[in-house]
Amino acid sequence: MAVDAQTARIVGAYLDADARARTQTLARVEHAWAALDSWRDADATRFVRAVAPIVQAGERHIANLTSAYLAQYAAHLHGGPFRPARLDLDAVTGTALRGVDPAEVYMRPFHTLWTALSEGKRLTDAVAAGRARAQSLAVTDLQLAKTHTSRGVLGRDDRVVGYRRVLTGREDCGICAVAATQRYRKADLAAIHGGCDCGVQPIYGGRDPGQVIDPDGLDRAHDAIAERFGADAVDATARAAAYWPQIAIREHGELGPVLTLAAHDFTGPADLS
Ligand SMILES: [Zn+2]
Repeated sequence: MAVDAQTARIVGAYLDADARARTQTLARVEHAWAALDSWRDADATRFVRAVAPIVQAGERHIANLTSAYLAQYAAHLHGGPFRPARLDLDAVTGTALRGVDPAEVYMRPFHTLWTALSEGKRLTDAVAAGRARAQSLAVTDLQLAKTHTSRGVLGRDDRVVGYRRVLTGREDCGICAVAATQRYRKADLAAIHGGCDCGVQPIYGGRDPGQVIDPDGLDRAHDAIAERFGADAVDATARAAAYWPQIAIREHGELGPVLTLAAHDFTGPADLS
């Protein structure tokens, strides 16, 4: 079913705002990283003190954006008032997301850096590896704030029966593109993947406006599918669904459901970096 223009605008505006929040947060994380110079314990402490609140502010912002988006979506579809759900921000940000104190999470870039040095890597390469780890952790935390907020809001709306994943076309990998062909139950937390920025689009019992599909995003998603599954995968959206049996959703102790290739050994957090 073709989606109406206003629905597409609501979803598009949300994903744009989400992308801006992500870019801003990552820039601030980068800034904190670039301010370090000794890479020793004192720097690690300084970084964690600076970055944990930066990421948490980003999570809160994305949680509020997500709640407002879902309220706007519901108001458009049902003609009712714009009424965002009351959010318990502590339940969808910070320690609640991984069950791990962010102060511990943001020490990990230094463990990456120090391990690289102990393996004889050059300092510049070790610093680059630590920086990449910091960025990857922040991206995952922001996405978890989005998926946890979505599940919380949709779970309290009796009219919602499930949701679809929406590809943004910015970060989509082949696995996300295949996962976006499916419908999900509203109680299920959206599974993530490294760099995932997928949005969530609710499905209501009586009124399903269809799926928002950004043609540019779809092209990029098809390229990603081709890269992952082979060149013959590019010819049609519908073909993506045929690859669904190759995808597995595995429960990760810290991150919750994670998308992987079914044939792939699940090795944990490294899959997400
Ligand atoms: Zn994704």
